[in-house]
Amino acid sequence: MQALAEAAGVAKIIPRSDGTYDVFTAGGRWFHLSAAAGKTVTAHGMPSSDVAQSTVDPATEQVNVTISDKAIARAVPRALVHEIAEAAAILDGVTQRSDILIDEAIDGDRNPSELSPHDRGRIAELRYLAGLLADAKTGLPYRASKDVDALLRALGLVSGRPDPDTGSFLGRSKGYAQRRAALDPSVQLIVN
Ligand SMILES: [Zn+2]
Repeated sequence: MQALAEAAGVAKIIPRSDGTYDVFTAGGRWFHLSAAAGKTVTAHGMPSSDVAQSTVDPATEQVNVTISDKAIARAVPRALVHEIAEAAAILDGVTQRSDILIDEAIDGDRNPSELSPHDRGRIAELRYLAGLLADAKTGLPYRASKDVDALLRALGLVSGRPDPDTGSFLGRSKGYAQRRAALDPSVQLIVN
């Protein structure tokens, strides 16, 4: 549990006897987390490829996570740390704003300097995967290192990308330097 808490960037995750969790955020808040298997859906109610989705109710401090019943087992803890980090950020008062950890050009008037709650969830995934890499006992280092590479690329955190057709090295994506600067030092270490 402590490894998951560290990846999610929360102070503590304490299992309850009923299978739910008490989560204590880095900002000193508490919330109650229930996770259940089910169907994840798009905003239009269509089936979604999301591994997990959450509802966060700040008034009752209740967070409900739906884990897709199609999710492969390996993807579940990674998705869970994302949802926990995102919910904790919302409850700690991080403003909902456009995500900046996206590998696409960011237009000039949008300054990619501040992480959204979802960005923080993505960073939690990165920390989780880095933990797997560091822990040789899991037997997953190779898989995890490919997952890290794919995630860094999706987040626009690789300094350059090989062209899929020619293999030649493309320039860094727009906003790369600002995205890097928005990361805390522990995440910078993983990205380096
Ligand atoms: Zn998210």
